[in-house]
Amino acid sequence: MQHQSKLPNVGTTIFTVMSALANEHNALNLSQGFPNYTSDQKLNDLVTQAMNNGYNQYAPMAGNLDLRLAISHKYELLYKSTYHPENEITVTAGATQAIYTIISAFIHKDDEVIIFKPAYDCYEPAVILNGGKPLSVQLSAPNYKVNWEEVSSKITSRTKMIIINTPHNPTGTIWSKEDMLKLQNLTKNTNIIVLSDEVYEHIVFDDAKHFSVCLFNDLKQRSFITASFGKTFHNTGWKIGYCCAPNYLMAEFRKVHQFNVFSVNHPVQKGIADYMQNPKTYIGLSEFFQRKRDLFLNLISESRFKFKPSQGTYFQVLDYSDITEEHDVEFAKRLTIESKIASIPLSVFYDKNKDDKVLRFCFAKTEETLIRASEILCKI
Ligand code: PMP
Ligand code: GLN
Repeated sequence: MQHQSKLPNVGTTIFTVMSALANEHNALNLSQGFPNYTSDQKLNDLVTQAMNNGYNQYAPMAGNLDLRLAISHKYELLYKSTYHPENEITVTAGATQAIYTIISAFIHKDDEVIIFKPAYDCYEPAVILNGGKPLSVQLSAPNYKVNWEEVSSKITSRTKMIIINTPHNPTGTIWSKEDMLKLQNLTKNTNIIVLSDEVYEHIVFDDAKHFSVCLFNDLKQRSFITASFGKTFHNTGWKIGYCCAPNYLMAEFRKVHQFNVFSVNHPVQKGIADYMQNPKTYIGLSEFFQRKRDLFLNLISESRFKFKPSQGTYFQVLDYSDITEEHDVEFAKRLTIESKIASIPLSVFYDKNKDDKVLRFCFAKTEETLIRASEILCKI
């Protein structure tokens, strides 16, 4: 039999490739973004308790109501923004499913979707699978600032969606209030939907503020926010996230959600709902990760890598242009095999041929791992 691939140019994700290479060569794995320590015992106990208390059958399609109430409360508390638990919040199987479902629900054939590159890898394939056309706006090292004139020049009557991500994976940069206002102005009086991937909303450094789309009235009316509990509560393997949007958008989202997943892991939802009753569980995250970032950067300050401190996320990009001319994919593989440290090359998140000689390292690791990693990096 012969099949025509729907994604002819897509291979295995870089996260899978680099984590497998790290395992094969027994290298420290700072590539794929996940912590190497466990989530809070209290949270684990609450999930176990939920299982023992009978939360083991299908959750409501939109998500466990206690969890939707806790999410709604979080938006009131942090942003003074209202998302109604009944019809404006849906719990998903990680942010990935939320993103795919949003794109499926709204992108028709030949609709254009603006994506900022480097971009997290699940956006573009979802657009293509749904017949849409991704259009890139390039962000370049070392500042990765948006050129708003370029964005403006790419908006046409066919533009259906703009996907944004702040704090940004892979670069660790954040968007300013001015950036958000520019986006709001450019989309005013259009039919453009904004997909705002805010999975790192609780991880911003140096007292900076996270500017969620929900803080800007006009933007909020056209936006989905996607979020991931895996990032917030240190358990990426649980794959629970959610999205919020005004009712008229969420109604369309749920039409697809009910058929591509219907509902997601019930005891984990109930456990997280109980855990979130204490807002300190998510509010202290920036401090927690800033200590890790600072430790890592202090330890590698004498190395030959150059960097600007990450502004948010748990990733740090390092420029290796003083070390070698090698392409970043080759260099990342060689570091894994020879130096026993795995990272993610940034070029894979761009369109072809972009090679700023930058690697991404995940610092959601124990102190001991960060110390061992910096000893290796200082010798390179
Ligand atoms: N968006 C970004 C920017 C990410 O880094 C990730 C990885 N956590 C996701 C979405 C997907 O999140 P999840 O693991 O909850 O599907
Ligand atoms: N979000 C994680 C990262 O950026 C990877 C998740 C995945 O492997 N798909 O590293």
